Amino acid sequence: MPLAELLTPPFQNKDEFDAWAFNHNDEHQNIVRAFALKGVQLNVYPLWPVVEDMSVWEFWHQQMHNQMTAAAFVEPTNFGDLSFDPQNTASQEFYIFNNYQDHMNVQSVLDTDD
Ligand SMILES: [Zn+2]
Repeated sequence: MPLAELLTPPFQNKDEFDAWAFNHNDEHQNIVRAFALKGVQLNVYPLWPVVEDMSVWEFWHQQMHNQMTAAAFVEPTNFGDLSFDPQNTASQEFYIFNNYQDHMNVQSVLDTDD
């Protein structure tokens, strides 16, 4: 999946979020694999299928971002208490954009680090 697809308009419903979460989980798996090839082990959390309790998903996702940004020596995003809220497009946009930024930063380190 092209990384730019992580940048999506706010989700209109749970199905749209689920499709994004599937692709986004793939990106995380790729990153974990890429670091493993360099001898760096990152913990894997199940970001898809999405668990019922979004606060758990958000915690796992934050853990993965903390670890991958630390491994890449880039500044992590603090998603804080942002949550998936279909009513709150502003917080969704912020979350999606910051997530994309982290993935871009980590990927560019992985791409140039060979
Ligand atoms: Zn992510």
